Amino acid sequence: MKVYLDNAATTPLDPEVFEAMLPVLKDGFGNPSSTHSYGRKIKSLIERARKNVAKHLNCTPGEIFFTSGGTEADNMAIQCAVRDLGVKHIITSSIEHHAVGHTVEKLKAAGLVELTYVHLDEDGHIDLQHLDQILSTSSKTLVSLMHANNEVGNLLPLERVSEICEKHGALFHSDTVQTMAHYRFDLNLVDKVHFLACSAHKFHGPKGVGFLYVNKGVQISPLICGGSQERNMRAGTENVYGIVGLSKAMDVAFKDLIHHQEHVTELKSYMIDRLNSSIEGVQYNADCDNLARSLYTVLSVSLPPSDIASMLLFNMDIMGVACSGGSACTSGANSGSHVLAGIEAPMNRPTIRFSFSRFNTKEEIDYAVTCLAKLYA
Ligand code: PLP
Repeated sequence: MKVYLDNAATTPLDPEVFEAMLPVLKDGFGNPSSTHSYGRKIKSLIERARKNVAKHLNCTPGEIFFTSGGTEADNMAIQCAVRDLGVKHIITSSIEHHAVGHTVEKLKAAGLVELTYVHLDEDGHIDLQHLDQILSTSSKTLVSLMHANNEVGNLLPLERVSEICEKHGALFHSDTVQTMAHYRFDLNLVDKVHFLACSAHKFHGPKGVGFLYVNKGVQISPLICGGSQERNMRAGTENVYGIVGLSKAMDVAFKDLIHHQEHVTELKSYMIDRLNSSIEGVQYNADCDNLARSLYTVLSVSLPPSDIASMLLFNMDIMGVACSGGSACTSGANSGSHVLAGIEAPMNRPTIRFSFSRFNTKEEIDYAVTCLAKLYA
């Protein structure tokens, strides 16, 4: 049996998305910047996709800029905020994705910003009181905090954080790569968020495409210079197939979102029950088993210390189960997870991250738990 439980890394392309991309791959070769009919036809697909994405998020099409994915969107938001918006101070957390973490470190090393890491509470959530405190003493600040952590699943109360930022006149960027098209966003209600990053391959869309939402109240210049694509905001011939796929993947996700959420939440809860009854001493990292405060697609399992720890993923893979894992890294070390280190996960307990999608089944969960229990027998 082959079981794919690594959906936080990437998801399989939805067949409906494949079907929507196919005609563009086959015949849609025109360059969207060309003014002849081939170009105009393709350009209209991009603009239709932009309108569709904006409709789903309740924002305006002018606030959506297509990028090569989540990494570029995060870079664009952070680097442009520093270069164009007078940001001198960045507040972030130690458990952000490297797309954010390495970007802010680079800006600090270049002497462009002061960098402050907000405290985490004992469950690995952002300490909002501390955020409020450090914001009240600072110069022009960008707060960059992810909506859901890709390794341990902790969810950020987006609206609450946006209110705190608003109170202090700070800009707010959130890496929503793991949550976009997994939750409904009404950006008309949360209009204190200035930047949101999205990546299509996290919700059954194609790889190499995403977007940055830039609140209409914010004016930035392009990060990538060249042609006048994306209304002069992101140069480079557009990934048209990808953009069409992203838009379709959003349609499919939102069409039946509640059903998908219920199905995946049930799988997660089922796996927790099965693990609890199959492996003695099993625990969950951060707040992963708190269904109300964690991303329903991610389960980060903390396993009892074991001699086979370093071989766990390899053995699971041999048995046909794809998942990911790690252990807390020591500071300064290149290997290991900075997220597990950030939440102070015990160094001697191996972690396996299982991450689910709407295509997974209870039978697959049973198989994965049986395999893991065998290794622990
Ligand atoms: N941010 C988060 C939270 C992610 O999980 C990922 C991908 O793993 C990224 C950013 C990067 O996205 P992309 O693969 O589209 O560059």
